[in-house]
Amino acid sequence: MIMTTWFITGASDGIGRQVTERLLARGDRVAATARRPHRLDDLAAAFPGLLWTAALDVSDPAAIRTVVDRAFAELTTIDVIFSNAGRAAFGAAEELTDATVADQIAVNMTGPIHLVRAVLPHLRAQGGGRIIQNSSMGAQISSPGGSLYHAAKWGLEGFLESVIGEVAPFGIGVTMVEPGTVRTGFGAAMTIAPGLDAYAGTPVGQIRRSIEGSGGNLTGAAPGDPARVAAAIIDAASATPA
Ligand code: NDP
Repeated sequence: MIMTTWFITGASDGIGRQVTERLLARGDRVAATARRPHRLDDLAAAFPGLLWTAALDVSDPAAIRTVVDRAFAELTTIDVIFSNAGRAAFGAAEELTDATVADQIAVNMTGPIHLVRAVLPHLRAQGGGRIIQNSSMGAQISSPGGSLYHAAKWGLEGFLESVIGEVAPFGIGVTMVEPGTVRTGFGAAMTIAPGLDAYAGTPVGQIRRSIEGSGGNLTGAAPGDPARVAAAIIDAASATPA
């Protein structure tokens, strides 16, 4: 018996894949999306009938609408939307290219915003659901070199905080999770060194605006276990809305 149905972005690797695997293993159905959905072929074979996949680049608002509409049409009900896709490009603000600015904001902020806009009509029509956003500790702190990533995650949380009150009357919960450093391919994919000589001594990644327990250095912190983060995210789906 299928327990719940999830829709996940960035499901092909890291935390998104861990969540997908855990859900499938307990009999949930997953609509898993990523730019490289073929990376989930092994899970499709291992859990026949439980995995629906689609290619989705969250920086493309039209593609988000198309894939979301298709997923609801084909799966009928989707209980949980896990907005997880993201990546970081660190670098001195002065040297950021137009393309880097556009990409970081699109993937980490406006993409998730468009996803919420796309799913809300469906969640209202089915009588409720839950949106879980994989945000970051980076939404609570700031660090030299991390201006774009922090801006995107802070901005996204501001959007979601406002949406919480809008959608609660429709039985829709919104949950933000803020992991610290997690042991995935995320760090390896991140650009962390300023390229301009003038910024050579910049303490990239060193936290400037701190929160209790956040430590002192984003890049030097001992990375957490993605499986534990995935378990906490799945638990968050059944938590009672505040
Ligand atoms: P990974 O790099 O391991 O995985 C990222 C996933 O996002 C991949 O499945 C990738 O798939 C997908 N992705 C990247 N760009 C896009 C895009 N444009 N459109 C759709 N999918 C995309 O990273 P994590 O699992 O670590 O990160 C997941 C989330 O967790 C991110 O939002 C990140 O900000 C957040 N986070 C991570 C932390 C960490 O230390 N790892 C700490 C705090 C938060 P594909 O390339 O196939 O599209």
